[in-house]
Amino acid sequence: MAGTRLLLAAVLLLLLGDFVATFGYHVPEHVFGKFHNLVHHSPKRSFVRYAIKNRQPLALIDGFLGAFPYFVFIPWLWLISPWGVGLGLVLAELHVIWRHRFWPTKPRPIWLSQLCQVLYITTPERHLIHHQCANQAFGDIFAFYGKPAEWWLKYLRLLKKRYRSVCR
Ligand SMILES: [Zn+2]
Ligand SMILES: [Zn+2]
Repeated sequence: MAGTRLLLAAVLLLLLGDFVATFGYHVPEHVFGKFHNLVHHSPKRSFVRYAIKNRQPLALIDGFLGAFPYFVFIPWLWLISPWGVGLGLVLAELHVIWRHRFWPTKPRPIWLSQLCQVLYITTPERHLIHHQCANQAFGDIFAFYGKPAEWWLKYLRLLKKRYRSVCR
């Protein structure tokens, strides 16, 4: 029972965190924002380094907002399992590191590729597509957020265009 609660809290943290991060931060950032595109989609990717080098402290807020969705649900998920929350946060961080290893030195174990395929988990190859073409392959952890995120992107771009034409 404790194991089930632990797993439930961890999975919910990843699912809800990625959902809010994708639809509430990542896609809107590509339409209305500046620093995600400028910093995260550059080869260095560090918001802290960018903020210091370019004297742009606002970039730090952007970096924080990218991670914030994973913390939003902690008070509720904590009631299910505090250890599950810890596990979810560790897995989220490990996935950030892994999905940005675009050119691995060793081939990936087959079981890991199969697991990603079965659970629709974003692989480094898929995330590289997003880094190369920012209109595609959304869903930092879960690939099934990708298509609805593209529709959301189109809708927000349309909204921005309409707003601009009204304001002119
Ligand atoms: Zn990335
Ligand atoms: Zn992006």
